[in-house]
Amino acid sequence: MTKKYLYLFSEGNENMRAILGGKGANLAEMTNLGMPVPRGFTVSTEACNKYYEDGETIAPEIIESVYEYMGKMEKMTGKQFGSAENPLLVSVRSGARASMPGMMDTILNLGLNDVVVEGLAKLTGNPRFAYDSYRRFIQMFSDVVMGLPKSQFEVIIDKLKVERNKHFDIELDEKDMRRLVREFKNFYLANMGEEFPQEPKKQLIEAIKAVFRSWNNERAIIYRRKNDIPSSWGTAVNVQEMVFGNMGPTSGTGVAFTRDPSTGEKKLYGEFLMNAQGEDVVAGIRTPQPISELATTIPDAYKQFVEIAQTLENHYKDMQDMEFTIENGKLFMLQTRNGKRTAAAALRIAVDLVDEGMITEDEAVMKVEPRQLDALLHPQFDTISLMQATPVSSGLAASPGAACGRVYFTAAEAKAAHAKGQKVILVRLETSPEDIEGMYASEGILTGRGGKTSHAAVVARGMGCCCVAGCGALKINEREKYFILDDHVVHEGDYISIDGSTGNIYIDVIKTVPATISGDFARFMSWADARRRLKVRTNADNPKDAAQALNFGAEGVGLCRTEHMFFNGDRIKAMREMIVASNSEQRKKALDKLLPMQRSDFEGIFRAMNGYPVTIRFLDPPLHEFLPNDDKDIKELALNMGITYDDLKAKVVSLHETNPMMGHRGCRLAVSFPEIYEMQTRAVIEAAINVNRTLGMAIEPEIMIPLVGDVNELRYVKKIVTKTADDIIAEANVTMHYKVGTMIEIPRAAVTADQIATEAEFFSFGTNDLTQMTFGFSRDDAAKFLEDYYAKRIFESDPFAKLDTVGVGSFIKLASDLGRKTRPDIKLGICGEHGGDPASVEFCHNAGLTYVSCSPFRVPIARLAAAQAAIKEMHK
Ligand code: ADP
Ligand code: MG
Ligand code: MG
Repeated sequence: MTKKYLYLFSEGNENMRAILGGKGANLAEMTNLGMPVPRGFTVSTEACNKYYEDGETIAPEIIESVYEYMGKMEKMTGKQFGSAENPLLVSVRSGARASMPGMMDTILNLGLNDVVVEGLAKLTGNPRFAYDSYRRFIQMFSDVVMGLPKSQFEVIIDKLKVERNKHFDIELDEKDMRRLVREFKNFYLANMGEEFPQEPKKQLIEAIKAVFRSWNNERAIIYRRKNDIPSSWGTAVNVQEMVFGNMGPTSGTGVAFTRDPSTGEKKLYGEFLMNAQGEDVVAGIRTPQPISELATTIPDAYKQFVEIAQTLENHYKDMQDMEFTIENGKLFMLQTRNGKRTAAAALRIAVDLVDEGMITEDEAVMKVEPRQLDALLHPQFDTISLMQATPVSSGLAASPGAACGRVYFTAAEAKAAHAKGQKVILVRLETSPEDIEGMYASEGILTGRGGKTSHAAVVARGMGCCCVAGCGALKINEREKYFILDDHVVHEGDYISIDGSTGNIYIDVIKTVPATISGDFARFMSWADARRRLKVRTNADNPKDAAQALNFGAEGVGLCRTEHMFFNGDRIKAMREMIVASNSEQRKKALDKLLPMQRSDFEGIFRAMNGYPVTIRFLDPPLHEFLPNDDKDIKELALNMGITYDDLKAKVVSLHETNPMMGHRGCRLAVSFPEIYEMQTRAVIEAAINVNRTLGMAIEPEIMIPLVGDVNELRYVKKIVTKTADDIIAEANVTMHYKVGTMIEIPRAAVTADQIATEAEFFSFGTNDLTQMTFGFSRDDAAKFLEDYYAKRIFESDPFAKLDTVGVGSFIKLASDLGRKTRPDIKLGICGEHGGDPASVEFCHNAGLTYVSCSPFRVPIARLAAAQAAIKEMHK
């Protein structure tokens, strides 16, 4: 038997999304529910995949089936495809498994040609309508199938309107429509070098192929990447009898939601347009009327629609987004799907549906997209203000939220402007740890270089500050304080707006609205928390971030990076003294200056975390990051430090590394300079003792050694830590426990994790470095060439943002198993940027990790993702 690729709507149902696509499955379901759906059939997603397997050709057997199913349609409708007497016209509609609104293409009124259009005119007694349908068909077919842009046809329409002194399409009469058809066909001929195709069968096959092709158009690919939709799913094609909203004053078309998609309020929400077809409602050619007015325009159709809407919502147990058309007073349903909604609406609907007894708490938890919660925690653009602005360019959406402010090019100037009460956008080629204070002073950060794990992106996410990174088109002249973007010149102090959720950049003032957390949020999150097994910790380097994260529900600090503590104010001086020291004694003297500062930082964090566990990572970056590179800056610093330029320059040169990411950093620093980790141990242990004593807590600090690749490295460094710690504890005459563990971020550590676990009391997977070293992709440079990987479909997503579960994931699983073998109760966490990515959180849940750690603003996302992973596992 040959494989079945085609399904009548009456043969499908809502559970067949994978083969029929969402649109097809729901059209089938509505048909089964006895709703008025124009008849049709679906060409399956498997046919689409076969089309690509066969080198973008459609197999003869599938073409045969299409004709066979058109025959069935003719029987059901009593109309004939291609006949002038009683023509069957169809729409050809894309529809993938996941809804991708507006990403792929649809063609209406297919089957028309020069002869059929005349028949349709006669049959309906409405030649204007017939020619309106024909000109629409030519326009859509040319655009979708032949790549001749719709906009060029709009130019022809606009010219005619001017000539005829008309404002709206509906004011054009039969003669105008005939003329448009003539001009469209001429335009087609002139551009394509052939007549507009007259054979309906050919039109149909070409249209189906075009929908298959649209699965791989650029906007669809980008949409899939942003939404984690695999390209292997393919799209289905729905072929459906046309119904006409453009037949005159008792016809129309509209869209509606069963609840308000921006607030979640329970009321029918939508718009319709009389004497219109398809996308007219959303295209803005005329102002549509609110759905409630349909009650007076066509009362019977309205009443029926309200009932259907309610039935659909009850059936799908979710807010529905529906499309309908009214042909001469008769209602037809053309689509239904679970509606897209804002984060606030998502929460309200989930909570309301539980209260209405429609769904369980489990189902409610599954209904909200974790990533969406971001929008509740950050400022967003005001919708109206945003509609009036056009982005001039875009970069990576590196840290969510929206910001509008004045441009400054250095951290110092940003800080100064902020002190004067200005709102600031910091614009830099890339940021470095020295910029931290300037970043804190900014509403948003825009960089020309770097990917999703670049310094700017990581730090901005940690602070909850919006960031657009890696905008390659940005040409910055820092010296003369301006940048050029898409031919616009923007000077210091000028306003720009950036959106870290989309990556868009605007040279406009766009109003922002602050984040709002409703009561629904707390209730909803309590349901999520009751269901998850994974703990959620945060990455925080200071008390403010730690407190913020606690507020968002963090249950500890999974990663406290200590290097950021060495940049602020006076500290960098002491740090630099330590680095240029020529012997251990000088080094210790400088470290003595750092000790009290670091100790008080830790006390602050311990206090903020109120007894929750805190993992502190010891100094990790290469030392050159703390010294200037520029000769001018080196001179200035030498003067400040009271050493000669030559000495300092020599030091900078000696610290230079060809490949610093694989250089003298992490635990390797402590092998060379044990004093550094001694000081850090002292700061941690003394801070814990102090806080335990004054606040009556029982903090057990967790000390984490970075970049271990060999158990002997860890053994050596751990000894430095335990010796120092045990002496202090003995001297203070207290009992206090602490743990020493390690990051697993080097492949060798992962594969020898059983040995490493003999020394390490916990593991934390540093998936940023682990990804970097597993792929051999530099975190700082990969963003650039990965673009080519996406374009050539070698990669579908950024491995630094979405955990590579196959490769990097194998290391995590292997190291977890080996670690548990040596130490059955070993605590396992993840602290890379992946800790806040929902798909990666699910992986961590399934791998049996103890916790994930992520930046404060991602804590709610991770909590929800962890709950969803647990629920999925339960229902497996
Ligand atoms: P999208 O997925 O972009 O919404 P659709 O396939 O839903 O694309 O079609 C676009 C528009 O055309 C919608 O407004 C839809 O209602 C309309 N349309 C599609 N098929 C028909 C049909 N058979 N009769 C009338 N209108 C149709
Ligand atoms: Mg649609
Ligand atoms: Mg690392």
